Amino acid sequence: MNRQVKDSLSRPLRDLRISVIDRCNFRCQYCMPAEIFDDTFQFLPKSELLSYEEIVRVSKIFADLGVKKLRLTGGEPLLRKDLAILIESLVNIEGVEDIGLTTNGVYLKKHAEKLKAAGLQRVNISLDSLDDDLFKKMNGRDIGIEPVLCGIRAAKDAGLGVKVNMVVKKGTNESQVLPMARFCKEENMPLRFIEFMDVGHTNGWQLKNVMTKKELLEVLLAEFDLEPVKEEYYGEVAKRFQYKGTTAEVGFITSVSESFCSSCTRARLSANGSLYTCLFNGKGHDLKSMLRSDMTDGELTHFIISMWNERDDRYSDERSAGTVKEQEKIEMSFIGG
Ligand code: SAM
Ligand code: SF4
Ligand code: SF4
Repeated sequence: MNRQVKDSLSRPLRDLRISVIDRCNFRCQYCMPAEIFDDTFQFLPKSELLSYEEIVRVSKIFADLGVKKLRLTGGEPLLRKDLAILIESLVNIEGVEDIGLTTNGVYLKKHAEKLKAAGLQRVNISLDSLDDDLFKKMNGRDIGIEPVLCGIRAAKDAGLGVKVNMVVKKGTNESQVLPMARFCKEENMPLRFIEFMDVGHTNGWQLKNVMTKKELLEVLLAEFDLEPVKEEYYGEVAKRFQYKGTTAEVGFITSVSESFCSSCTRARLSANGSLYTCLFNGKGHDLKSMLRSDMTDGELTHFIISMWNERDDRYSDERSAGTVKEQEKIEMSFIGG
């Protein structure tokens, strides 16, 4: 059975993003600043993370409620042991049409083949710069671009589809917009420029550091001929463009300059098993306790339906309208990007 569940603004439930771990080998300033996520930072103990069995149980319930896409993220999802085992179970869930993985790519060299063999079709690899020194600075761990480029190659060699994510922060890496566009076009990998977002409270977000889609397009159009591509499906997040005369494309995630809450179909499961109906929520629904109680699948389904039915989140729309109130927000590495 596959139901259609809608929220209070008539948005269906279609996607589930699952953060499998809150730890990461990078300390990107815009996500996990090293001065906050330092040696004393208390990450979740293993017992607080959802087990693979629990993740599969939840995913089955979501698929039954109309979820077609799952995305594994974190923190760095490839730090979770035997992730391929989880993927193998998720691909077999009825109704799930697509599974994605977002990673910084460093461990793909080691894992790409196993992931592909488990049934993964594609990965999104984050890379914010092709300049080694700048990249080392941005990831806060002095790691150069080579391991990420190796990861990209390994993913391609394994037969995985590869998209590249680049967060552009004004004053930091806007010099890399054209080099990254040239590189991804040459490699025929769709590049997604992500506007720097005000997730969490630790990344020092300021509007003046956001490089908007309009500004990015101005830079790109000085060198490339681009034409807009039609939306492929309801709720598609990226605004896509094609390099004229080729199949290569580039896209923009415009959470700040052109919010897209009106078609947001995504629920998020944090590393400790809480459910969030918006990236900017402060509090989640503690699903882990429910999973570890004697609640039946029917009762869990009922809970998720009522949670989604009540959903009225539209944070980015409110930010654009200037009506957001000061509120508690969860960190990106915890809730998953
Ligand atoms: N560690 C993996 C990675 O970096 O790909 C997966 C988790 S990361 C939180 C998921 C995505 O969120 C990455 O593409 C990252 O660049 C993006 N991200 C993190 N913080 C962000 C922010 N403040 N604004 C916009 N995107 C952000
Ligand atoms: Fe880690 Fe990804 Fe956050 Fe960078 S963006 S700190 S790689 S979780
Ligand atoms: Fe969805 Fe919340 Fe982002 Fe709006 S702000 S698109 S509701 S996650």
